[in-house]
Amino acid sequence: MPMSNKISESTEWVNALLASLEMGIVIVNNNYEVEVWNQFMENHSKIDAQEISGQCLFKVFPDIEENWLKNKCKPVFALATPVFMIWEQRKYLFQFEASRPVTSDADFMYQNITITPLLNESGEVDKLCFLVYDATDQALNKLRVDRLNKQLKTISRVDGLTGLYNRRYWQERFDLEYKLSVRSKSCNTLMMLDIDHFKKVNDTYGHQAGDAVIRHIADTIKAATRETDVCGRYGGEEFAILLPDTEAKNAVTVAERIRKLVQATEVDYEGQIIKYTCSLGIAQNTNEYTKPSQWIEIADQALYKAKETGRNKVVVL
Ligand code: GH3
Ligand code: MG
Ligand code: MG
Repeated sequence: MPMSNKISESTEWVNALLASLEMGIVIVNNNYEVEVWNQFMENHSKIDAQEISGQCLFKVFPDIEENWLKNKCKPVFALATPVFMIWEQRKYLFQFEASRPVTSDADFMYQNITITPLLNESGEVDKLCFLVYDATDQALNKLRVDRLNKQLKTISRVDGLTGLYNRRYWQERFDLEYKLSVRSKSCNTLMMLDIDHFKKVNDTYGHQAGDAVIRHIADTIKAATRETDVCGRYGGEEFAILLPDTEAKNAVTVAERIRKLVQATEVDYEGQIIKYTCSLGIAQNTNEYTKPSQWIEIADQALYKAKETGRNKVVVL
């Protein structure tokens, strides 16, 4: 096994042991010149131990930030305590290709690193030993789980039929926006929307067609509102839209846009042409409300009034 002068003094079995380890072992002196470079390091770096022996680590690996690593190693030299670095802090120390061939997720080896002090006869740290662990599997699993959790979080917030927020998450966001608006005294407006005579749509065209209409109005709402507006499916064919930093009169413009778009479009469900309308109730927040439910109550009353006074209209309270 190719090794430096120091290692050549070691016994055969130590060399064999170093070669068989499934981890990288690198020993450097206090000038960061390599003294030991085991088989693992040879295999993954494609640099021979003989070739790298005596060379400064930072010369051979210019990608390693010298100041950063020296800072990490400071306590190891000064206090003779080991230092650990995990892939979550920094993906790797040595840029190696991932050893696992079939992976689209990693084109490099994630590494956990231990830097251990090596003491000389007078008890001073004059060398460091880097242990390099291949953490690629661990990292990929963790990243996969994180990704799944993120997806789950999104799924748990979104209504399956429309892609808008579901009621639970909408309410959560609404409560939060309410608190923020109380503190910042900003002007926010709430809009409740309900499809007119929706039972008739279901009765005439069937439940599936009804679902298509619900999807259509959700798309219309998405198209008519801004990214910052909080749109949710509040009930079967009822929607709640919070417009932050918006006065009621501007919300009316948005509401009218939605109402007119709905009135003007036809939903084509498997050849059946469905026309429908919707009603909207609007309420701006005031400092008279002491809790968010009161605000919803007023917007609901506005919606009720829109229904009562003929439907296909917008009412502000
Ligand atoms: P109004 O103009 O007064 O609102 O009359 P409406 O017929 O729309 O009355 P309402 O709002 O009470 O109707 C709700 C109906 O929506 C009843 C229910 O069968 C239907 N519905 C609720 N959720 C869904 C759903 O997910 N899909 C379908 N297709 N229908 C639904
Ligand atoms: Mg309805
Ligand atoms: Mg309804």
